[in-house]
Amino acid sequence: MNTKDRNKVFIDRDYLWSLIDRKAPNQNEINDILNKALKLKGLNLEEVATLLNVEDKQQIQQIMDVAHKVKEEIYGKRLVLFAPIYTGNVCCNNCTYCSFRKDNHLIKRKILSMEEIEAETSALLKQGHKRVLLICGENNKNGTEYMCEAIRRTYSVRENNGRDYIRRINVELAPMEVEDFRMLHQEKIGTYVCFQETYDSELYKRFHPAGTPKADYAYRLTVMDRAQEGGINDVGIGALFGLGDYRFEVLGLMQHAKHLEDCYGCGPHTVSIPRLEPAIGAPDAENVPMPVKDEDFKKLVAIIRIALPYTGMILSTRENATMRNELINYGISQISAGSKTNPGAYSEDEKGTGSQFELGDNREMEDVINSFIDEGYIPSFCTGCYRKGRVGEDFMDLAKPGLIKQYCLPNAIFTFEEYLKDFASEQTQIKGRQLIKDMLAEYDQKQLISKIEENLNNIDNGQRDIYF
Ligand code: SF4
Ligand code: SF4
Repeated sequence: MNTKDRNKVFIDRDYLWSLIDRKAPNQNEINDILNKALKLKGLNLEEVATLLNVEDKQQIQQIMDVAHKVKEEIYGKRLVLFAPIYTGNVCCNNCTYCSFRKDNHLIKRKILSMEEIEAETSALLKQGHKRVLLICGENNKNGTEYMCEAIRRTYSVRENNGRDYIRRINVELAPMEVEDFRMLHQEKIGTYVCFQETYDSELYKRFHPAGTPKADYAYRLTVMDRAQEGGINDVGIGALFGLGDYRFEVLGLMQHAKHLEDCYGCGPHTVSIPRLEPAIGAPDAENVPMPVKDEDFKKLVAIIRIALPYTGMILSTRENATMRNELINYGISQISAGSKTNPGAYSEDEKGTGSQFELGDNREMEDVINSFIDEGYIPSFCTGCYRKGRVGEDFMDLAKPGLIKQYCLPNAIFTFEEYLKDFASEQTQIKGRQLIKDMLAEYDQKQLISKIEENLNNIDNGQRDIYF
């Protein structure tokens, strides 16, 4: 893609609105689309728009049932866990929905030193985490060089005599130039994540006041193109639900995913679907402009799952435990656990600095894990693909024919067993091991079972970080 194309806005606003303004579909149309979805080939923009216009409760349930089948078929009963590390809450932008906005004088600000980032990492390692997301506000004190150093320091931390270390770091950072992405790429990050917030260019102006870097809609929209040019082909997109019409945002995500697929042969690795939560000093979080009802939120998760069957879908601790437990059945494949959204909160005083928004789920990591076990889901800390080089197009080549499954469940079981052995209470260990046993009894890849059992013995004998 040349430089001119790279700056081109690929969201067709008028067309997306024209798809939303259509009447509700009839049953035959819905059946045809859902039959296609069951073949795991994904959906096009028009089909997604048709499902978004479904309002009938029974028809919505039909969509959710199909999403459940697609989720089970591709992801099985496993769920990847991670935690964010907020390295700073100082920001030069003024997004009207975020506590970190520069005009908010109600929160205490901080940019963590490298030693403080190490302390945060240690605290998460002691809980059993292996995957983190580094995230911060935008300002020139924590630019690319700071983040590269932060990544190196996070990877370097060791706990329990070298046994525990962070195995994958994803980063959620403000849009940057190709050169910055090249620097970031050297640091062996997993996924680069950046949310468009709203895909509606007109609304975007309202929430991102002029005069700040974030006010540039096109620069943000084309960030993944620059990431690709800088060598990063594992990218995560997202929209903040509650700013605009949820149907438009879902269509925006679809058009973004298609743009990446068309231009680079591989869609996004993940889609995030945060829903606006109250946030101190952020007017549009206190009075959400277009709140997304729970029923619509569940519907949109189900539609994204069947439209982009091979794309991971991430849910944060913005949602409460009930919603999180429900949505893992309809599409969510990655979830944060035990999260704090203020810098320094894992290792220091939790109230020492301001957080980005209020959490809907304040449970500790082990409580979250227990509730997933109760739902029959294996919590996974797997980092296998990234470390084996199965990323970008190579990953999709395995995911689309369904071959990735042969890695996912064994790796989930290995990392879960490590967690049980090293961090879990006796009660969690008993429940967790029973779940592993039940899963193996039902596992259809019989030829792999003896290998899995052999590795479970290896873990029992002290070996760690085993993955296929
Ligand atoms: S959403 Fe991001 S860019 Fe906007 S004020 Fe918050 S931290 Fe800054
Ligand atoms: S094997 Fe790959 S796709 Fe599966 S959980 Fe691990 S990293 Fe993710």
